[in-house]
Amino acid sequence: MGATGCGKSKLSVDLATSCGVEAEIINSDKMQVYKGLDIATNKITIPERKGVRHHLLGDLDPADGELTAAEFRDAAGAAVSDIASRGKLPVVVGGSNSFIYSLLGDRVSPQLRYDCCFLWIDVAFPVLCDYLCRRVDEMVETGMMEEMAEFYSSESWAGRVGLLKTIGVPELEWYYKMGNFESNKNNRKMIVNDAVRKIKENTCRLAERQVGKIVRLKSGGWDLHRVDATDVFRERLRAADEAAAEAAAEEEEMEVVMAAAAECGSGGARRKSRKKRRRQWAEVWEKEVMDPSVKIVKRFLEE
Ligand code: ATP
Repeated sequence: MGATGCGKSKLSVDLATSCGVEAEIINSDKMQVYKGLDIATNKITIPERKGVRHHLLGDLDPADGELTAAEFRDAAGAAVSDIASRGKLPVVVGGSNSFIYSLLGDRVSPQLRYDCCFLWIDVAFPVLCDYLCRRVDEMVETGMMEEMAEFYSSESWAGRVGLLKTIGVPELEWYYKMGNFESNKNNRKMIVNDAVRKIKENTCRLAERQVGKIVRLKSGGWDLHRVDATDVFRERLRAADEAAAEAAAEEEEMEVVMAAAAECGSGGARRKSRKKRRRQWAEVWEKEVMDPSVKIVKRFLEE
């Protein structure tokens, strides 16, 4: 469990590949259960899944309506039984508290429906919020606007009810409905910038609400193991700052040095340092998040 952006999907795959038992993952993020808007909903990509089978991830047609918590309980419960019947470990990952509560809470008693080991990835809120704002910029850079344009270009977009509450859809509605009629380039830019600002605000608000709900579950007696990933995110932010500064310096340099050979040389150096930076935060992740989590899960499995 954990707020949006805290690394739940990565940790679930790390656990599935490092706990010494075969595992499959069940998604419990409310928006990721539907097909479509992969960038806006931040679905884990196929290479990132590292061959681990995922259930209820992008499987449902958003035009079939919103999945209720009770329907999720049935679908995810069936996935748990199926995975367990094949001798594998079900790993439930996601942000929606009502889905997790519905799946795991027992209707008639305060007991849980399954024997569970809970991991909560926590990140200090200002650090997470800073990261989430940059993630939105990255989503824009990697095609969120194009994805949304395609979504809104379909005549039946309003019928894809499952996805209508995805952060980004309501915020960009004005742009795609009215912005297209706006011929002034600067006005269009202003509308987009305003929508992106709202997406950032709403994402941080979502994260805050999600953490509040997790804290309530913990104080209500759920035995959540809190894993602090703040240092990982500090490192990621530092690396992103460094990369941005380097790219700016390189751009300046490119204006001066036009020779093709110089272009190849500096590109190679940048790729190398990008790799190095990724290795640095990946090391902190392993030490502070993955290793302690693997230990907790292994201990649980041995009990
Ligand atoms: P809960 O299920 O925890 O009781 P909830 O019904 O508010 O609360 P959340 O999963 O917290 O559900 O999601 C709330 C809202 O946040 C969604 O309706 C949607 O607007 C947005 N949201 C949630 N997950 C995502 C996501 N992966 N991508 C984009 N927006 C999301």
